[in-house]
Amino acid sequence: LNRRLAEFGTTIFAEMSALATATGAINLGQGFPDTDGPEEVREAAVRALREGRGNQYPPGPGIPELRTAIAAHQQRRYALSYDPDTEVLVTAGATEAIAASLLALLEPGDEVVALEPYYDSYAACIAMAGGRRVPVTLRPDDGGFRLDLDELRAAVTDRTRLLLINTPHNPTGTVLTRAELAAIAELAVERDLLVVTDEVYEHLVFGDAEHLPLATFPGMRERTVSIGSAGKTFSFTGWKVGWVTGKAELVTAVRSAKQFLTYVASGPFQYAVAEALRLPDAYFDEFRADMHAKRDLLAGGLEQAGFRVFRPSGTYFITTDIRPLGESDGFAFCRALPERAGVVAIPNAVFYDHQEAGASYVRFAFCKRTEVLADAAERLRKAFA
Ligand code: PMP
Ligand code: GLN
Repeated sequence: LNRRLAEFGTTIFAEMSALATATGAINLGQGFPDTDGPEEVREAAVRALREGRGNQYPPGPGIPELRTAIAAHQQRRYALSYDPDTEVLVTAGATEAIAASLLALLEPGDEVVALEPYYDSYAACIAMAGGRRVPVTLRPDDGGFRLDLDELRAAVTDRTRLLLINTPHNPTGTVLTRAELAAIAELAVERDLLVVTDEVYEHLVFGDAEHLPLATFPGMRERTVSIGSAGKTFSFTGWKVGWVTGKAELVTAVRSAKQFLTYVASGPFQYAVAEALRLPDAYFDEFRADMHAKRDLLAGGLEQAGFRVFRPSGTYFITTDIRPLGESDGFAFCRALPERAGVVAIPNAVFYDHQEAGASYVRFAFCKRTEVLADAAERLRKAFA
């Protein structure tokens, strides 16, 4: 393994899902729903397979039906208009979108400012692209983990090429506010930076929180690559359909990298996702309401078990602090948790460069059936309360 990748080892998600399988524990580690998305969307995939649509290489940028549906979704939800032919690219999940964006836009040595803790593929992809990551740490306060705008400003240097933003944020569940996004946008314009924004949890925001795409802020449309995922929005993580939207020049660049990664992926599923994106608002509202209830169920259980809970404003993850349980090492805690409580979780430290800042945080996924969450909550109460 080369020096660029040596520090990364095996992704924590594989390690923890293997632990869940080996121990029979409830897997609240890796973030995937335990029920599939809408039946009609699954049927649309079956129809495409049967009718021979997408069984051979689809067009490089994605099938026109899907690119049109992605553009229509951005228009309908956010009043953002993109040309489906030149400003939309279908990728093999958001994972490939992130990789291709960084590989396409970074020169070796360029600095990328990203919010820490960060989703694990960011650090690895920045490294593969020869870039340098510059973390800005989200700090816990009463309401959750917050971005310090002065720290963000201070992190930008003459070598900074792009800001890598994620809202709603995995693993903290933070949803950046209008004021925070406006400040990020101002900084990007002032310092002439590109922005890659991972918005895969765009439809999972709770209560008063609102998802505002960075691309909607002044001066941002022309410098922002926005990333979405059907895995997250429609609960089909195995289909690996994601997308990028942005101005033509940027999307063309991302496509240049993408064509040599997978070239194309997920042929028949692209047809199904095109239909999914046209589902009525009721689908998105119900999805959000369902996850909101699940959030409250698991958050309540974790609180009763004695964890400090940062109730997330978005995503399907809850970050907790284990110090009230008399614990401080999230790695050790997560490795022992299946034995102690019959539950699997993720140590947030894997998402940090500043290990000490993340050591005592542990992430639980709540995209699971109600009875599974109730069972997990009961197990945690029994083990710790
Ligand atoms: N970005 C974030 C923040 C994620 O949480 C995930 C999935 N865990 C991805 C990207 C990858 O999405 P996909 O499954 O579409 O590749
Ligand atoms: N995005 C998922 C999570 O954060 C995991 C995806 C993966 O396994 N790579 O749990």
